[in-house]
Amino acid sequence: MIIPRQAYSPQSFTPMASTPPKKPNLDSVTTINTDGSRYFLHPADVHGKWTLARRIFGLLLIAIYVLLPWIPINGAPAVFFDVEHRQFYFFGLNFRPQDLWMMFFGITGLGFSLFFITSLLGRLWCGWACPYTVFLDHIYRRIERMIEGDAQARRKLAAAPWTAGKISKRVLKHGLYALCATIIAHVFLSYFVSMERLYGFMNEGPLAHATAFGIVAFLTCVLWFCFGYFREQFCVIMCPYGRLQSALTDDDTVIIGYDEGRGEPRGAKDKTTGDCIDCRRCVNVCPTGIDIRNGLQLECIGCAACIDACDDIMRKIQKPTGLVRYDSLNGLSKKKRRFIRPRIIAYTILGLLGMGAFLFTATRKAGPYTARFSKMAMAGQPYLADQETVKNFYQLRFLNKRNETVTFRVTAVDPPPGLILSGGDQDIPVSPRGEVARQFVAILPLKGIEGRTSLTFRITSEPGGHQTEQTLNFLGPNAHQNP
Ligand code: SF4
Ligand code: SF4
Repeated sequence: MIIPRQAYSPQSFTPMASTPPKKPNLDSVTTINTDGSRYFLHPADVHGKWTLARRIFGLLLIAIYVLLPWIPINGAPAVFFDVEHRQFYFFGLNFRPQDLWMMFFGITGLGFSLFFITSLLGRLWCGWACPYTVFLDHIYRRIERMIEGDAQARRKLAAAPWTAGKISKRVLKHGLYALCATIIAHVFLSYFVSMERLYGFMNEGPLAHATAFGIVAFLTCVLWFCFGYFREQFCVIMCPYGRLQSALTDDDTVIIGYDEGRGEPRGAKDKTTGDCIDCRRCVNVCPTGIDIRNGLQLECIGCAACIDACDDIMRKIQKPTGLVRYDSLNGLSKKKRRFIRPRIIAYTILGLLGMGAFLFTATRKAGPYTARFSKMAMAGQPYLADQETVKNFYQLRFLNKRNETVTFRVTAVDPPPGLILSGGDQDIPVSPRGEVARQFVAILPLKGIEGRTSLTFRITSEPGGHQTEQTLNFLGPNAHQNP
């Protein structure tokens, strides 16, 4: 529907003319009244491309969170912090306490990647991927909207006396909040005990697993409190990442901003005014209660609701969209935009270094098993020789990191003529998370063996068909003269 611009007035977009939402300013936090009490926000509904994209992305993230503990890789859930056995499974990789040093690279890489994203795209994490925002916006606010109606109806209900209707709505809403909190808390616990064991816990009752029950009960209460009551206060006054923003962003960081040059003077009074008709629609949809026209503020979580809200208004008054948009401060003030800056280059290099080192070490060290060869001396000698053969002794140590029995087999790669492997060429089963040491002897004909020879062994594990190769020394007569 296209409405003439003159038909708009600030009041026409005020959700409830009798109790208008508080007017934000830069001197105080909107959600705190002058007497220190809480001012409860009732953000208006908004529709548009960013809202739709955020919802799809948010639901996808929730699906990933719920499904990951169900997806088995190499016999363990895709992501599993196995507290009982002190192991961490991550998409087929297995980490033990002795592998913790690798986490340094992983965490460093992740940290600098987040710095990189923030410097480039501002609070993209907060608005799109932070679990707090995702659960709040795509589960809890949806439930509230379903039961109590739109912002105007919610504001009206909040101000209404405690009638049976209001009590039943609130009981239903908080009942569903508590149910969702319970589910989220149980899924969270399954990341530490596995879905299978969680199901066992639930069947055996809370007293049989009092600690696990206590953790879930505590987490449920925290989630219910945060999403049912505390809400945007966490982002506005508690989140440390929000406070880090000003150190990570600059005038070229893409943020959500208001094009002051185009919008001001606001008010739709006559032809001399800008495109902003001061309808306050962008303010009414804001989940943290700020006015984006006051500039970039700490409370802005980058949810893009104000972009969709303003674009909707612009379409209706037949003006170009983008009065509120994703842009840098330089872009909004028509200065030259710079995409690549020194800090972007620095964060990219450091992030890639960290992630690269982590992936390199993790894929080598944190596989589904480890197999270590070591050369053994026999009767104090590095090898034993008789008239016809030379024997070398080795020890093989297998560590099975999976939750299922794995069978190993050792074979020689391009073996020299006459090689006999005694003890190594059989199937070696290793129980789940078990460790097995085996000795084996490599025997070669004495003729032609002089000094040091290289032998390459291939270790194959089933199930999975993983293969690794290791090269060892085979020592013969005069090895010390022939290094
Ligand atoms: S910026 Fe857009 S949504 Fe906000 S008051 Fe102005 S016209 Fe309305
Ligand atoms: S100002 Fe806009 S982007 Fe920022 S929190 Fe409010 S609605 Fe979301």
